[in-house]
Amino acid sequence: MPGRKILTDFPLTPTAHHLDDYRARGGYETLAKALHSLRPEDIIQEVVDAGIQGRGGAAFPAGRKWQVVNPHDGQPHYLVANADEGEPGTFKDRWVLEYAPHQLLESMLLCAYGLGVRHCFIYIRGEYDRPLQRIQTAVEEAYAAGYFGEQILGSTFSCDVVIFRGAGSYVCGEASALLNSLEGKRGYPRNRPPRLTVQGLWQRPTVVNNTETLANIAWIIRHGGAAYRAIGTEKSPGTRLISISGHVAKPGVYEVEMGYPFKTFLEQDCGGVAGGRALKAVIPGGTSSPILPPDIIEGLSLDHESFWDVDSGLGSGGMIIIAEGTCMVRALAVMLRFYHHESCGQCTPCREGVGWMHRIIQRILHGQGTNEDLERLEYIAKFNTGTTICGLGDAAGAATIGILKHFRHEFDHFISHKRSLCDGRLELRCAS
Ligand code: SF4
Repeated sequence: MPGRKILTDFPLTPTAHHLDDYRARGGYETLAKALHSLRPEDIIQEVVDAGIQGRGGAAFPAGRKWQVVNPHDGQPHYLVANADEGEPGTFKDRWVLEYAPHQLLESMLLCAYGLGVRHCFIYIRGEYDRPLQRIQTAVEEAYAAGYFGEQILGSTFSCDVVIFRGAGSYVCGEASALLNSLEGKRGYPRNRPPRLTVQGLWQRPTVVNNTETLANIAWIIRHGGAAYRAIGTEKSPGTRLISISGHVAKPGVYEVEMGYPFKTFLEQDCGGVAGGRALKAVIPGGTSSPILPPDIIEGLSLDHESFWDVDSGLGSGGMIIIAEGTCMVRALAVMLRFYHHESCGQCTPCREGVGWMHRIIQRILHGQGTNEDLERLEYIAKFNTGTTICGLGDAAGAATIGILKHFRHEFDHFISHKRSLCDGRLELRCAS
C-alpha cells in the first residue's frame, strides 16, 4: 500500500459519489462546524499550516496564495476549481469529479467561507462527459440539502456555484486563460503582474486552485493543518493522486503518500512494466515534466524535492511509463505536434519556435534530417524557456531538452541511418 490515504479512503461502491453516502462518511460535518465555530482567517491559517502545495503542476503553496486575499476588504472575491485537466497523461482530477464530487464541493465551501467568496466556479474540461454528469448531480444534491444558496446551515454565509464547460483548449488549463474563457473572451493567457489573487475574474481577487488541491481542504479543516503536515515529507506534505498510464500492467489513479519509493510504486502497486518488458523511461508528471531514464528515476521517492533535484518534476501527477522498444524520436514528435497544435499564438517564441521544432522533428522522421537540424532543435528549445507569457512554450522546450539529454543517440542514429534505432524500420507513421 502506498502509505496513508486522504482522498481515496472510502470503499468505491456504486453509490459512493452520492450525497447520502458522503454524509454517512461524515461529509459536510466539517462545514457545519466551521460555519459556527471558526473565523474565515482560521480556515486560511489551517491551510497555511498544512503546507499543501498546488497539485496542478507548479506546486505553489495554496495557503500562501490564499493569504493574498483579504476576506474583509469589501469587494467581491471569486473561487475557481480548475478541472480543465488537459496535461497529456493526466486524469486524476477526473477521479475526484467522478468518485468524490461532494468532497470537492464541501472543500470549496470551506475555502469560499475562508476567502469571503460569494460565487464559485468549476471550470471543467469539455471532453469530460461523465465527470460533468457526476459533479452536476452532486451540485443539485448539495443545493437541495441547503449546502449552497442563502444563509447556509443557518449561518450568515451564502454561496453559489456555477459549472462552466470548457471547449477543449489545452491552454485554458492555465489559470489566467481559464479566467478569460470564463469571462466569455478568447482563452489567451494574461501577462502578469497583476497576480490573479489581486486582479482575476472581472478584475477582482480570484483564487484558482486545482481540483485535487481543493478536494483536500475538507480533510485539512477536519483534522487540522498539523495533522496534514505530519503526512508525507517535510518539504512535500500530504498525499498525491498519481494517474499512471502507458506501458504499465495496472494503469489507473493511485493515491500515494509523498515520499513513497517510485520503484515500489511501479513494481508492487502498479504491477510493473506491461508484458514484463524492461523500463526505458518515465515521464513523471505530464509531458511538461522532463523525461527520466530508469537509472535516475528508480532511486527516487515520489515527492517534489526528489524530482526537482534531477531537473524534472512531479508536475500534474500524470505519469507515463515507457517500455524498452519505444522510439524516442517518435515520442518527441507526438509531444511537439501536440504543443504546436495547442499554442495560442500570442508569443513569437512559442508560436514560431514550437512550429519550427515540430517541422524539424518531422524532417528527421521522414529521413531528411541533418546534424544541424538537431543542433537547431536544441537551440530553439533552450531559447523558448522563460521567454513566453505562459508555461506552454517552456513545456515544449523542457520536453525536448529532457529527451535529447538522455536519448540523443537515438536521434543521431535516426539521422545517419534514416530509421529508428528501436524497430529497424523507416519511421513514417507520425502524420505531419
Ligand atoms: Fe500562447 Fe504559447 Fe504564449 Fe502560452 S506560451 S501565451 S500558449 S503563445
